Amino acid sequence: MMINKNKAAWLLSLAAMAAATNVFAQQKDYPIQPVAFTSVHVNDNFWEPKMEVNANVTIPYVLEQCKKNGRMDNFLRAAKKLDGDKLSEFPFDDTDVYKAIEGASYSMQNKKNPKLDKYIDTLISIIGAAQEPDGYLYTFRTVNAKKPHEWIGSKRWEKEEDLSHELYNAGHLYEAAVAHYQATGKRTLLNIAIKNADLLVNTFGPGKIEEYPGHQIVEIGLSKMYRVTGNKKYLDLAKFFLDVRGPKGDAYNQADKKVIDQHVAEGHAVRAAYMYTGMADIAALTGNAKYLAAIDDIWTDVVTKKLYITGGIGATGNGEAFGDDYQLPNMSAYAETCAAIGNVYWNNRMFLLHGDSKYIDVLERTLYNGLLSGVSLSGDRFFYPNPLASMFQHQRSAWISCACCISNMTRFLPSLPGYVYAKNQNDLYVNLYMSNSSDISLTSGKVNIVQTTDYPWKGTINIAVNPAKSSAFTLRLRIPGWAKDQPVPGDLYTYLDKNQKPATILVNGKVTTYITDKGYAVIKRTWKKGDKVTLDLPMETEKVLANNNIKDDRGRFAFQRGPVVYCLEGPDNRDSLVQNIMVDKNAMAAANYQANLLNGVDVISAEGKSTKRQLNSDALIETDQQVKAIPYYAWANRGPSEMTVWIPYEASAARPKPAPTIASTSKVTSSVKNKRMYNAIKDQYEPADSKDTNYPYLHWWPAHNTSEFVQYDFDAAHTVSESKVYWYDDGPWGGCRIPASYKILYLKDGQWVPVKNTTPYAVSKDAFNTVSFEPVTTTALKLEVQLPVDNSTGIHEWVVK
Ligand SMILES: [Zn+2]
Repeated sequence: MMINKNKAAWLLSLAAMAAATNVFAQQKDYPIQPVAFTSVHVNDNFWEPKMEVNANVTIPYVLEQCKKNGRMDNFLRAAKKLDGDKLSEFPFDDTDVYKAIEGASYSMQNKKNPKLDKYIDTLISIIGAAQEPDGYLYTFRTVNAKKPHEWIGSKRWEKEEDLSHELYNAGHLYEAAVAHYQATGKRTLLNIAIKNADLLVNTFGPGKIEEYPGHQIVEIGLSKMYRVTGNKKYLDLAKFFLDVRGPKGDAYNQADKKVIDQHVAEGHAVRAAYMYTGMADIAALTGNAKYLAAIDDIWTDVVTKKLYITGGIGATGNGEAFGDDYQLPNMSAYAETCAAIGNVYWNNRMFLLHGDSKYIDVLERTLYNGLLSGVSLSGDRFFYPNPLASMFQHQRSAWISCACCISNMTRFLPSLPGYVYAKNQNDLYVNLYMSNSSDISLTSGKVNIVQTTDYPWKGTINIAVNPAKSSAFTLRLRIPGWAKDQPVPGDLYTYLDKNQKPATILVNGKVTTYITDKGYAVIKRTWKKGDKVTLDLPMETEKVLANNNIKDDRGRFAFQRGPVVYCLEGPDNRDSLVQNIMVDKNAMAAANYQANLLNGVDVISAEGKSTKRQLNSDALIETDQQVKAIPYYAWANRGPSEMTVWIPYEASAARPKPAPTIASTSKVTSSVKNKRMYNAIKDQYEPADSKDTNYPYLHWWPAHNTSEFVQYDFDAAHTVSESKVYWYDDGPWGGCRIPASYKILYLKDGQWVPVKNTTPYAVSKDAFNTVSFEPVTTTALKLEVQLPVDNSTGIHEWVVK
């Protein structure tokens, strides 16, 4: 019954589309329209190689990984082309396949690839076969409806507000379908998406199921479907999904208030960024002023209190969420790659609504730093969180079972040409600077624009303006905030020296005075073929200071050049150490392009100092050294290392290399095999409390109720009589607690023997747990740890004396 009704509705909507032919008049949309990625051909020294790596390495790699990790089998099983009911791990795994198709579509538009095109066609036919007759498409239920995954419940949509991600899957399907249709002209995936969207229209809404999406994105997808099909029901449903949110849900997924009553950023950062993007779409498509007022306030909140210098958002791993105001820790920064991508989506929409360059300033900062860091130069290693400091504990992964960031990166990079230009009748906005050739239609006629530049290393941008016929229009060149002594809108970050040279503009070789409007240099004239514009931006090495309310950045500065934020990384600095480096505020800094380093980067050099402690003395030993900084996005391409974006200029902020101790000179072994964690327990960082994630720690998660160990093999025989352990415990949300019990053993004639403790083995959190024992002379000490029954445990630091 339901199937027939939905099928009828689907056929009707196809008929409506056919009647509307190719063009239909839309009532409303963004006042400024992006120039589509299909019209912009990037041939840039910086971006084109990255887009090529994405096309040649990342897309095939991600498709292969989707296959290897069961995602293709999910669809094959749902399509009854493969036996069995085995599924991959997460109910949102379908989206990785959709995002890979979306990325492949953009990429094929940039450069034809018949083999990939054919592969995607095959994939789409399997997706179509996995769709249920009424349009429902969600492999986790179709394959195994009888024994449903614990997140999805026994009935459709039952756990949508919680964890099922059914609508999240739909949203990514729509985005992929629209991209595939626009790039190839084929309707195959679009028809699957229409059938699914029609099911949603019939299922959700006032008087039907009144639920909100647990993880937002279907709102963005439905707006795109509306634009492509002209079916207003999709737009209405997108708005419904926003209006039905709150006020009785959780802040975690922005459901604790009605969306129009939200004025600050809170909760899960990716969900939030997708929701704000969806709200911008609806504000544009419907003229809803309340949506606009809400996201304007939220934007100001993020940019003035919750934005990393890298453009990353979502400071805390706890809930993958926005932290409190100015809570921007560096080593434990979460700054998920997906959140950076969401931040780009959102800021681009804000620009299209307001026409102000400040949104593109945030977009550009995110793009060149906290987003680009998400993928390795090789294109097959990925960051999920993007920290701003490291002690070896971070490294890119080849694959992550929750692969959202990987597939998101795959789809974002080839869509980049769509962010370069925008237009409003006879106003042409030049938002990003990269070499490209583009054909753009303005009201006055067609114009070909050719940009030639070595941005972001050089500040000169040559723009050839070639209108088909001489015509009057306005060129709006973005003068980036970074070139006007304002790294970000507001006062979250400022330059130490505020005396930049102003940007200059030549038209056909002559200096031109220009007016500035909303951050754009406005050049209005009658353009003719062969006109040349030269924009010169002051590309200087700047030291950025953070607002004093950000406690983690006090006494420190960050290097920035143009839109690029720099970091110190081990391989470029003495003894591979950077946490012990100090650079004077007034130190001269020089930048040099190094073609053979990290695929070609500017390197900043400055005179600095390394600092260290020695045994039995409070004196700080300072040694002059040359300090080198590389672009942040390029770090972690040479193995695990130390890294920091924020460089101490005050001794109080510096972290001298500690004096050697029995522990620090020991070799660590453990029952946990992840060697990257071994150094953590002897790095001499004392955490603020047991749940402090800002410094590295060793943990046994997800093991529980087992006996585990760590062991120190000393550099020589030592006489020891005391042990101090600082336990890692991230309760109540995390999976680690202080242990059930522990004991210490020492090596005696090749045998492990328990020490004779003279004080009790107390176990408590938020402090060192000290045990004294009768002195033993030994070459090795072992900590045997009994994990709690239901939880794991971890160690911040283990000191022996
Ligand atoms: Zn992600």
